[in-house]
Amino acid sequence: MAEGSVLIIGAGGVGAVVAHKCAAVPSVFQKIILASRTRSKCDKIAAQVGGSRIKTAQVDADDVDQLVELIESFQPEMVINVALPYQDLTIMEACLRTKTHYLDTANYEPRDVAKFEYHWQWAYHDRFRDAGLMALLGCGFDPGVSGIFTAYALKHHFDEIHFLDIVDCNAGNHGKAFATNFNPEINIREITQRGKYWEDGKWIEVDPLSVRKDISYPEIGPKSSYLLYHEELESLVRNIPGLKRARFWMTFNEQYITHLRVLENVGMTGIKPVRFQGMDIVPLEFLKAVLPEPSSLGEGYTGQTSIGCQIRGVRDGKPRNYYVWNNCDHAQVYREIGAQAVSYTTGVPAMIGGMMMLTKTWKGQGVFNVEEFDPDPFMSELPRYGLPWHEQVDGQLAFDDYR
Ligand code: NDP
Repeated sequence: MAEGSVLIIGAGGVGAVVAHKCAAVPSVFQKIILASRTRSKCDKIAAQVGGSRIKTAQVDADDVDQLVELIESFQPEMVINVALPYQDLTIMEACLRTKTHYLDTANYEPRDVAKFEYHWQWAYHDRFRDAGLMALLGCGFDPGVSGIFTAYALKHHFDEIHFLDIVDCNAGNHGKAFATNFNPEINIREITQRGKYWEDGKWIEVDPLSVRKDISYPEIGPKSSYLLYHEELESLVRNIPGLKRARFWMTFNEQYITHLRVLENVGMTGIKPVRFQGMDIVPLEFLKAVLPEPSSLGEGYTGQTSIGCQIRGVRDGKPRNYYVWNNCDHAQVYREIGAQAVSYTTGVPAMIGGMMMLTKTWKGQGVFNVEEFDPDPFMSELPRYGLPWHEQVDGQLAFDDYR
């Protein structure tokens, strides 16, 4: 194993950001290899980064043997998985076989059911522990920084957190009629499933996009936000004691919702194969093929994202409100590394998570979620690498339905 070396898998919007950001910190990421299904995408990113910082390779990450061969030939200390959630388990398996640490930004999802749950990956805990390895799950922005923000709030501002609302706004305009900001297939599977939140010890389900609220975001103003199920709710409910309610909200504009409804109504978001000209085709996979790639959206993208946690709890016996957030400007990150803000806000935390692991600032044996570690070192790296954060204590929150 070569110390300070990383294998990044996935050369899409997020993979490009992780590669750029790792390359900019040679003291930690001494050697970098970027591998993906389509090698030309890796070569393009490596050329943009310049010099000979990044080696590239082709790999089908659905195939454990191919992954093992690649890992054995390069001997990285860790793998950063920014391919698709479908590949999480094969990559974890290959890491176990080769004694390599693991990090990802999205939890495992089987192809044939749109269910993103942690239990498949948590089940690897004992095997990682027994091998003396660490796997860090969900280290993007949300999941990722949303959990770190929550852990930071608990450490510094609360004795107990009772109400958590994660609020995710993209107020950007990419000028396309319809495009998703990360992988279209994964994004549409997430949005079209039933909404779900945690309240009083149980999960409550609602129809897809049926609960809406105007939430005002810093420097942006009010935007229609919809209650969604999002994977970090599952780990936060497990890891943050005393939570009475945890919800997740995301903005969508009317144009996006209208396109999505039409696509759903005509069956284009389905994940069951349909027979077409003698072949089985998954409608959503076909739709992905005709939509713009997330990595192509950066040019001309204007406006900001704003993602944060609105928290209500108690400190010293008194109720307390707390809001912590980051705003990220699409045009600014395009100027910096040619990315758009959704890829950027995911890729930067993935790089910082890798840094936490390689420097042993965060260490553990087994499978972990980000909120299980000390948030302070991560929080201090965020602004340094392009994601400044802000906080407001005891101000007004968007919600008043606290008990
Ligand atoms: P893209 O679609 O832009 O990129 C996905 C990349 O994975 C492509 O390079 C693709 O290759 C590669 N890939 C797909 N299948 C395989 C395979 N079998 N073997 C090797 N490589 C493969 O997606 P994004 O970059 O937008 O998203 C990447 C990940 O980040 C997703 O899992 C997404 O859910 C996650 N994410 C997490 C967020 C967070 O905040 N936590 C937010 C946004 C995204 P090819 O080009 O050949 O198709």
